[in-house]
Parts: sequence; structure tokens; C-alpha cells
Amino acid sequence: MAVPKKKSSPSRIGMRRSHHALTTSAHAECSNCGELKRPHHVCSHCGHYDGREVATAGKALKGAVRA
Ligand SMILES: [Zn+2]
Repeated sequence: MAVPKKKSSPSRIGMRRSHHALTTSAHAECSNCGELKRPHHVCSHCGHYDGREVATAGKALKGAVRA
């Protein structure tokens, strides 16, 4: 098994972890109910997409059929 030759210094550890920061996920306001939703996705709160209802509100959207 490969073993590190030298102990990682706190500086090196910090340099490696400089890429570990989390970014905020993309979100957009639903034009129907105003809830935050994922862009280009059916609103999970009211089931609307592009100004019309395409899924029953509150129900699981997985496998929903297009109206
Ligand atoms: Zn909505």
C-alpha cells in the first residue's frame, strides 16, 4: 500500500480543502404559488409548470403523465 512519505502540513491541508466549500443550489420562484423550486422542473408545491398544472399538487411527481 502506498504510504505518504511526509506528514501533510496544516498549510497543505488548507490548500487541499480550499476546493471543498459548498455552493448554493440553483433555485427559482414558482410563477404560480411563489414557492422556491428547481429551475426547469415542475413545482413540487403546486404541480404547475410553464403556467399550467401538469401534476396533482402534493402528490409524488415521479412517473407523472403529461396532460
Ligand atoms: Zn408552485
